[in-house]
Amino acid sequence: METITDKRKMQQVCEALRASGKTIALVPTMGFLHEGHLSLMRIARQSADIVVTSIFVNPTQFGPNEDLAAYPRDLERDKGLCASVGVDYVFAPGVENLYGNRYQTYIDLHQLPNHLCGLSRPGHFRGVATIVTKLMNITKAHRAVFGQKDYQQVLVIRQMVSDLDMDIEIVTAPIIREADGLAMSSRNTYLKAPQRESALSLSRALHKAQEMVSSGMRHSSQLIDAARSFILSFPETAIDYVAVCDPLTLEDIAIIEGSALMALAVRVGSTRLIDNTILTRTSAINP
Ligand code: AMP
Repeated sequence: METITDKRKMQQVCEALRASGKTIALVPTMGFLHEGHLSLMRIARQSADIVVTSIFVNPTQFGPNEDLAAYPRDLERDKGLCASVGVDYVFAPGVENLYGNRYQTYIDLHQLPNHLCGLSRPGHFRGVATIVTKLMNITKAHRAVFGQKDYQQVLVIRQMVSDLDMDIEIVTAPIIREADGLAMSSRNTYLKAPQRESALSLSRALHKAQEMVSSGMRHSSQLIDAARSFILSFPETAIDYVAVCDPLTLEDIAIIEGSALMALAVRVGSTRLIDNTILTRTSAINP
C-alpha cells in the first residue's frame, strides 16, 4: 500500500492505472476510521482492481461553529487499517494541496440540500459535492462507495453525478452499528461514558418507529412525536430534526403508504449524531 499526499501525483498514478486497463474504486473518508469505513473498503476491494481511500478532513463542508479543528485525526492508525483490508493507495492530501491557488469553484444543488442536514448545516452539501467531485477527478475512479449512514449525502452525490453526466458508478453500503445499535461514527469518540448511553436513543427511536409501523401506524406525526419524546427522555439530548420523508426527494410524508425514510439528527452534549432507517410496512430494522 502506498500513501500519496500530492493530488498531481495521485492523478498521474490513476491515469497510468486506467491506461493499463485497471478498474479503480474510490472510498472517500475524513479518517479516524472504524468498521463502517472498512466495510466500504471491503466492498470496493471486491468490485475493482485498485482501491483508493482518501483521508481528508474537508474544511469546506464544516460551518464556522462546527468541529473542524477538533475533528479526530490519526493518519498512522488509519493507514494500518486501510492496509488490513487490502487498500492499494491512501490519498491524504493537505488543505493547501487541494484548495490552494485562490480556489473559487463550488457545486451547489438546488433542492436536496433544502432538507434535513442541509437546513441545520448551511453550505455543508456544497462542500461535500465539491470535494467529492475533486476526488473523483483526481482518482479517475470507475466507482465510488458511500455509506447509507449519510443518507442525504448519497442522494446529493447520485443527483450530482446524474445532473453533470459524470462517468462514475455510485455504490451505497449499509450502516454498520456497534453491538448495542449505535451507528458507528468518528464523532462517537467525543462521547463521555454517560453520553454514550444517551446516544443509543437514536437507533432505539428508529427501532421503535419501525415497530409502530409494523403494527399498523401510518401517521408520520405520531411516529415523530413518539421518537422525539423518547429521545428527549435521555439526559443531555437536544433534537436537531426528526423527519419522516420520501426516500428519494426527502419531502415530508404525512401518511406512510409504501416505504419512508426516517432520519434523525440529535445533539448529545455538544456532539451532533445522525442516524436513519427505511421504514417499511413489513420488515423490521436490524439495529
Ligand atoms: P466520514 O469519514 O464520516 O466522512 O465517512 C466516510 C464514509 O463512510 C461515508 O460514505 C460515510 O457514509 C461512511 N460511513 C460512516 N459511518 C458509517 C457507518 N457506521 N456505516 C457505514 N458507512 C459509514
